[in-house]
Amino acid sequence: MSTIAANLQAVEATIGEAVQAAGRARGEVQLLAVSKTFPAQAVLDAMAAGQRAFGENYLQEALDKIANVAQAQPDAPVEWHFIGPIQSNKTRPIASHFHWVHTVERLKIAQRLSEQRPPELGPLNICLQVNISGEASKSGATEAELPELARAVAQLPNLRLRGLMAIPERATEPGQQRAAFARLRMLHDALRADGLALDTLSMGMSGDMAAAIAEGATIVRIGSAIFGARNYD
Ligand SMILES: *Cc1c(COP(=O)(O)O)cnc(C)c1O
Repeated sequence: MSTIAANLQAVEATIGEAVQAAGRARGEVQLLAVSKTFPAQAVLDAMAAGQRAFGENYLQEALDKIANVAQAQPDAPVEWHFIGPIQSNKTRPIASHFHWVHTVERLKIAQRLSEQRPPELGPLNICLQVNISGEASKSGATEAELPELARAVAQLPNLRLRGLMAIPERATEPGQQRAAFARLRMLHDALRADGLALDTLSMGMSGDMAAAIAEGATIVRIGSAIFGARNYD
């Protein structure tokens, strides 16, 4: 078995324990394998082990990898998620090469993604990134901006607003980790109560996936636990 296949098995075991402890079903949590900084071959190894969804942060690197994977496995079902910061002049390739974008934090970016989404691909799945760590983070919409942003994005024709995403401040203590994820879930529930049809909480990484699953994560974004330590980030 490849190292990546063994790592995937270990991550699967962790997810399995966490969903069981939370009284949830395994099918409620999607594993997104974050392949940033790793080559197309790493993605192909993970695909051979049954993994289908991959997350990328850096656009040019991602476009090269998507092309290489498509060339090697033209018929394989693979789903690409953009999870990095978005520059407004780079929205077109994101709109045409990805199935999901997790890091929308401004209406202008969402409008561009909607305008530039090729209609034949169907709506682009969107999560709004929320800054739940306040001053400690520069990324994400503030909690105060969120309701208006969500209502506006939900109106855009070529997007499908699915939910919220956050990268909380790093915490090692499970109680602290859970508090941040609980906050995101509360914001998600408030938007649903307001009438938005959201179904996605993108939260949890290699170091805190169990806490995120305990608080309702529906997508966990796992990099190093699958592919190993990164040389750059
Ligand atoms: C890199 C990255 C991950 C994966 O982090 P690991 O700690 O390696 O699991 C998840 N989400 C985002 C947004 C990332 O940039």
